[in-house]
Amino acid sequence: NQELDINLIRKDFPILQKRVNGKPLVWLDNSATTQKPNCVIKAIDNYYSEYNSNIHRGAHTLAKIATEAYEGAREKIRSFINADSCEEIIFVRGTTEAINLVAETFGDDKIQKEDEIIISVMEHHSNIVPWQKLAQKKGAIIKVVPIDDCGEIIMEEYAKLLTSRTKIVAITHLSNVLGTINPIKKMIEMAHHIDVPVLIDGAQSIPHIGVNVKELDADFFVFSGHKIYAPTGIGVLYGKKAILEEMTPWQRGGGMIKDVNFETTTYNDLPYKFEAGTGNIADAIGLGEAIAYINNIGIERVQLHEKKLTSYAMDQLSQIPSIRLIGTSSNKSSVLSYILEGVTPEDVAKFLNNDGIAVRAGHHCAQPVLKRYGLNSAVRASIGIYNTIEEINALVGSTLKIARY
Ligand code: PMP
Repeated sequence: NQELDINLIRKDFPILQKRVNGKPLVWLDNSATTQKPNCVIKAIDNYYSEYNSNIHRGAHTLAKIATEAYEGAREKIRSFINADSCEEIIFVRGTTEAINLVAETFGDDKIQKEDEIIISVMEHHSNIVPWQKLAQKKGAIIKVVPIDDCGEIIMEEYAKLLTSRTKIVAITHLSNVLGTINPIKKMIEMAHHIDVPVLIDGAQSIPHIGVNVKELDADFFVFSGHKIYAPTGIGVLYGKKAILEEMTPWQRGGGMIKDVNFETTTYNDLPYKFEAGTGNIADAIGLGEAIAYINNIGIERVQLHEKKLTSYAMDQLSQIPSIRLIGTSSNKSSVLSYILEGVTPEDVAKFLNNDGIAVRAGHHCAQPVLKRYGLNSAVRASIGIYNTIEEINALVGSTLKIARY
């Protein structure tokens, strides 16, 4: 059976029972962060109450249990994105930290004066600013792939930007403003054709689309746990083993070394070479649990449910007079951005909040893409696994009320 039993799923998320401003909470801010199921909350509680310990070090029972749980989470992540080996799964704080890590190690080694870095108009600031810092330091150049009016990458322009000067492509899998699912397999293939490595920002795709890093042939794939029903403060950098092995470490300290004396240090094996200091053990275990939860439901069924809700919402919203939808690609999921003529997005969000509906208004940390549409701000409703048709109807009804008012 492909249909999800949403009522059953909703029971797993305690926060969804809440009322806000006297109304049942309608959580449509999933692109900012997702709510957490009981199994994730319990896994964290269980770690702290039953086996809290540092990992890989102590020669005692709790250290062994904690290490096994932490490494078990890494294995769940490896399997979820179909990486070859756990050596390719680095725990980081989130997408932002992963991109900074790659820019400051791989980027710093490979990119020189007048080299080019390709990104797209629809990138989140965290996939722009680290590259900008690197470009400024090295005298390199950022090239930006344009998009068309419905929010799709213009592939001919991308093809033109790929040259012998290109040293890396960094591109989002799913736009956090437009919802567009980019043709990254094709984009990676085109870059690889001229031996250019590709980093995929999977912050938004990971909870919505099945990701297979091997099939995509991504060189780097990064995401944050909190967008996939896991805690904040934990995320993943996937990198191909051969590339990671060649890379110099980023932060330095305990755990990432093999041998230290005052003259030299030899570094630990992967993935530990990139995990300096005590990691976020509890939340890594929580991330493993969240992935097990999604696996149990099946990411294909999640994808189907969310696509259906997205199409329905787009259809209903488009009938509201004075609405302008931003991001109208037919290949999109889970993100609904819009503005209402004559009302600021911030006011729309305030009105929706009065009805218990949580959306975001602002630039969504992606100012360039809003500017592309002549905007500084938009309302964004974003869908997750537990959202229902009734909640979409509530969003549409409230938005219509505001438009009429
Ligand atoms: N990239 C995209 C596409 C995002 O949506 C986000 C989060 N809004 C990020 C990167 C940054 O993620 P984080 O803040 O968890 O590091």
